[in-house]
Amino acid sequence: MPEIIIVGGGITGAAAADALARERHAVTLIEKHGIAAMASGRTLGGIRQSGRDAAELPLARAAIAMWAGLIDTLEVDVEYRRSGNLRLARTPAEVEVIRALVESQRAQGLDLYFLPDNTAVREIAPAMSPNVLAASFCPSDGHANPIKATRAFADSARRHGATIREGVVVTAIRVARDRVVGVDTTAGFIPVERVIVAAGVDTPGLLAPLGIELPLSTKVVSVVQSEPLRACLDQVFGVANADCAGRQELDGRLRFTNGLRDRSVDPARWTGDSLAPSANIISDLVTLVAHVLPIAGDARVSRTWSGFIDLTPDALPVIDVPESVAGLVVAAGFSGHGFCLGPVSGLLCADLALARPPRHDLAAFRLARFEERPIAPTALTLHG
Ligand SMILES: Cc1cc2nc3c(=O)[nH]c(=O)nc-3n(C[C@H](O)[C@H](O)[C@H](O)COP(=O)(O)OP(=O)(O)OC[C@H]3O[C@@H](n4cnc5c(N)ncnc54)[C@H](O)[C@@H]3O)c2cc1C
Repeated sequence: MPEIIIVGGGITGAAAADALARERHAVTLIEKHGIAAMASGRTLGGIRQSGRDAAELPLARAAIAMWAGLIDTLEVDVEYRRSGNLRLARTPAEVEVIRALVESQRAQGLDLYFLPDNTAVREIAPAMSPNVLAASFCPSDGHANPIKATRAFADSARRHGATIREGVVVTAIRVARDRVVGVDTTAGFIPVERVIVAAGVDTPGLLAPLGIELPLSTKVVSVVQSEPLRACLDQVFGVANADCAGRQELDGRLRFTNGLRDRSVDPARWTGDSLAPSANIISDLVTLVAHVLPIAGDARVSRTWSGFIDLTPDALPVIDVPESVAGLVVAAGFSGHGFCLGPVSGLLCADLALARPPRHDLAAFRLARFEERPIAPTALTLHG
């Protein structure tokens, strides 16, 4: 019988499985599709501190320190490169947005610099267009290969004794006398006293029958990947209003994504196939990106796909132990920037599942915050 079950084989669940297995706990990860099938395999793969809410900054910093060592701890080159992040301004109004961002984040101790004109931007990223008027630059941000990284955590967990079950759906979490007693799955009931729910956009559906409300809206963003090009861009780039972001992968492919569209979707009604973006979406996205990175307009498109964003009202995740059900840990709602945090989110899930003090302050990530005070919806900062 497992000691702990993890629902979800994205980077959060896979990193949690690895952390727990390394401590010799009997952990089983259950993933309904395959490891990295959802957001963690569809992401841009940006790893950044810049542009983050102050509450998330300590986690992002700790994550960045870990990313550099994953090649050794996971024994896989996850293609992590600490090559910087640029957030671009395309209009005078956006220049002021970027200037203010740099000031506020420098005050929080981040190594973020203001590049005041196109010359300064192109000294760092020569492929950028003359349309870019200014940018922020965070040299300690970077990017990695999402599928390699997520699978590397799962493989490492397996090597350390975890059981990974793919193609199995957790259909319900069973509770008796306010304690977790097991999970129902498409492969039968599994008794267990501790469950970590890291199921991305499907998390609210698993919690609702337990009387726990997680206010997530599910948004769709789309991604274009080009054929390999000559090396032309080291940094991840985003833009002031977060309507697009991109990077060049190590094999030369450009990978770029659009921002949020307003409409929320019901994740239960979407399948892998129906997540294919329309020609109009692709064309609009290429136009947006080519405005700042002209080479993107001439690149041959190799693949396109979409992914879900699990957006909370304040665009911060929930990493918490709900009070009403003992034995339950929730880690979801990463709101478009949870790939970077994955290594740390996994450790935090392990701390909470083992009922020891979490290694970071999780006050900002409590589930109860949504009930305690009205939260004004926050704009998503999806930019790598
Ligand atoms: C296009 C795009 C670009 C992004 N860009 C960035 C970026 O540049 N930087 C960044 O940091 N973040 C980015 N993000 C966000 C980031 O990818 C996510 O925050 C992160 O991957 C979330 O990981 P997760 O493990 O919490 O969730 P997921 O990766 O969604 O994993 C949840 C898993 O749970 C499984 N599951 C769900 N329900 C069940 C069930 N009942 N039983 C069993 N399994 C179940 C799902 O199949 C899924 O595999 C982006 C996301 C997208 C879509």
